[in-house]
Amino acid sequence: MIYRTDYHIHTIYSDGQGIFEDYLGHAMKKGINEIGFSDHLTLTETQQKWSIIPGLLNEYCDKILDLKNKNRNIIIRIGLEVDYLPGKEEEIARVTENLPLDYLIGSVHYMNNGSVDLGPEFYEKKDLDKLYESYFELVSRAAETELFDIMGHPDLVRIFRYFPANNPEQLYRSLAQNLKKSDVAIEINTNGMNKPLSDFYPDPAYLHIFSEEGVPVCVNSDSHRPGDTAQYFDDAYALVKKAGYKEMATFEKRKRKMVSIK
Ligand SMILES: [Zn+2]
Ligand SMILES: [Zn+2]
Repeated sequence: MIYRTDYHIHTIYSDGQGIFEDYLGHAMKKGINEIGFSDHLTLTETQQKWSIIPGLLNEYCDKILDLKNKNRNIIIRIGLEVDYLPGKEEEIARVTENLPLDYLIGSVHYMNNGSVDLGPEFYEKKDLDKLYESYFELVSRAAETELFDIMGHPDLVRIFRYFPANNPEQLYRSLAQNLKKSDVAIEINTNGMNKPLSDFYPDPAYLHIFSEEGVPVCVNSDSHRPGDTAQYFDDAYALVKKAGYKEMATFEKRKRKMVSIK
């Protein structure tokens, strides 16, 4: 049995629909070895309703630590999914540095003052080749800051099925090389199955490129409902193996440890 982790889970501290215990129950039922919480932290000028209130970060971590102490039969990790916003690097570092975190997921949800995952309008009448190129560049730039351990849904721009005209293979190759240089992992995010995309991020057709370039990987559900914990994991882990991966990335106190998947 492959060692399974699910590090991307949203609770009522951001835009999820359950409390920690609800997700824990589902993770145990599905035989997950490690569960990690990763509520949104979005340091825009005004508080976003889908983001944790920064003043509650200590309470959030304390509650997860308490849950850890009460549940010894599953490993529980503390994370956050942080929006990469250019210019906010120092603020992100400052807000997160004293928290007892196991990992940070860095995600790009905003581009050119627009939100890439709120609605398809963002894509209309846009040069999709340029848009994909800019998005991939932003993910590389986020990785370069070394603020993050895992890059979230690295090709989220596929969400509404607006695809580039040109073959994007080279974009994936450059992205993988940049992520390797920055020493960050990627996630296979299975929540794309619940979106118009109906597929995982990144595109399974290019997953082998990340494996060839030596970018560590983990599988995450990006669950916003307790029942979605570890969703589609059999398929995702099969893809990881097919892409040539021999090990998975696990995280504890911001240190990565590789676990064999054989
Ligand atoms: Zn996200
Ligand atoms: Zn998420």
